[in-house]
Amino acid sequence: MGLTGIQIFQMLPKTNCKECGIPTCLAFAMNLAAGKAELSACPYVSEEAKQKLAVSSAPPIRAVALGTGDGAFKIGGETVLFRHEKTFFNPTGLAILVSDDEADDAVDGKLKRFTELSYERVGLILKGDAVAVRSVSGDQAKFSALVTKVKEQTQGGIILIADSAEVMAEGVKVCADRKPLVYAATADNADAMIAIAKEHKVPLAVKATDLESLAVLTEKITAAGVEDLVIDSGARDIKTVLHDQIHIREAAIQKKFKPFGFPTIVMPFEMTDDFMMETLYASMSIAKYAGLAVLSDFQGQNLFNLLLERLNIYTDPQRPMKTEQKIYEINNPGPDSPVMTTSNFSLTYFIVSGEIENSRVPCYLAILDTEGLSVLTAWAAGKFVGDVLGEFINKSGIKEKLNKHNLVIPGYAAIIQGDLEEEVGSDWKVHVGPREASNIPAYLKDNFGS
Ligand code: SF4
Repeated sequence: MGLTGIQIFQMLPKTNCKECGIPTCLAFAMNLAAGKAELSACPYVSEEAKQKLAVSSAPPIRAVALGTGDGAFKIGGETVLFRHEKTFFNPTGLAILVSDDEADDAVDGKLKRFTELSYERVGLILKGDAVAVRSVSGDQAKFSALVTKVKEQTQGGIILIADSAEVMAEGVKVCADRKPLVYAATADNADAMIAIAKEHKVPLAVKATDLESLAVLTEKITAAGVEDLVIDSGARDIKTVLHDQIHIREAAIQKKFKPFGFPTIVMPFEMTDDFMMETLYASMSIAKYAGLAVLSDFQGQNLFNLLLERLNIYTDPQRPMKTEQKIYEINNPGPDSPVMTTSNFSLTYFIVSGEIENSRVPCYLAILDTEGLSVLTAWAAGKFVGDVLGEFINKSGIKEKLNKHNLVIPGYAAIIQGDLEEEVGSDWKVHVGPREASNIPAYLKDNFGS
């Protein structure tokens, strides 16, 4: 059982110094008990208290690390049911499946797509996270050869899928240094799989036939000393999968039910033969709490959408998505190119930069840090105003690169034109651009096209 707020309060310094960002130690203790604060926010907790409080402040769903180096990622570690309550922390890991009964060229194609399909959005690289390697043949040599190939050709996490503990042991031997997930301990093979996970210090998936037997199995495995678990209720129809995902999350978060306090794994590839339906099931699994989802393949048309959905769900709703403040070059600008300006709200940046690209007119795009606010909101908040934008332009060094000095402000911010002219000086000509981004291509071609 976790500690109550009052029990936690007894262990705090009780100085009400506010350094944790909360007015009193009592309020901090209450937040900690409710999973709404991090213990590390208080710099004055004694080591002894830290140890006791660590248990109580641990997230109700354990964070499990998979993979190593550049391919490392975490799943679980969640503290809320709904992202608007706080945020979700560790995005659903997406895995592509290869099996030892597949032809070499099919496997090679999948590994190539796993490595090459990646997308840049909001300054982040979005890509798949793991390769799931499945033993269908039951042949130890075949399985370990496929695991070796995956290990040599990819950087991501590895999920090993085998029913037989003997086959699994061969696979783990090959890639234990990559911290693979062993899938899965069942009621029939739990002891052998526990031994493998303990010997190699790797996380273990637990697969049952329903929620009740899942709880029994996870209790048995944690009692045996394996703590890093990923759980699978065994459901393979979408209705039961969703029911189980929600039930597991509610039990872990609201009832602090320890046997379900682990990230889950969902297997869309086993739920349908229709690739589009499989993608849909993966999408529903991302929305409803899956820690990992294993797909039969990655294709641009399914992976890209899943990655974007995941990005949206796992973005902190209390923090606007921001783009870095700097001068961006679009369409190879030169000394005669204009300087477009806008705020650093990511959506604004992507729309404006996309329209400039479409125009094919070489431009600089000056992105001002408005703390992620859009142009109008930033103007109202005093963050996208003439003197602030002008100071950024003056300090950016862009003027020295140009022969012609044309600065274009968004139409909605026309009101800042005078202040901006004053700040940047008479060398610059400040233009009021279009209000709507969709009009940017025509505006640029008319005014700055060659
Ligand atoms: S930082 Fe620690 S001591 Fe200070 S108010 Fe917060 S909980 Fe209390």
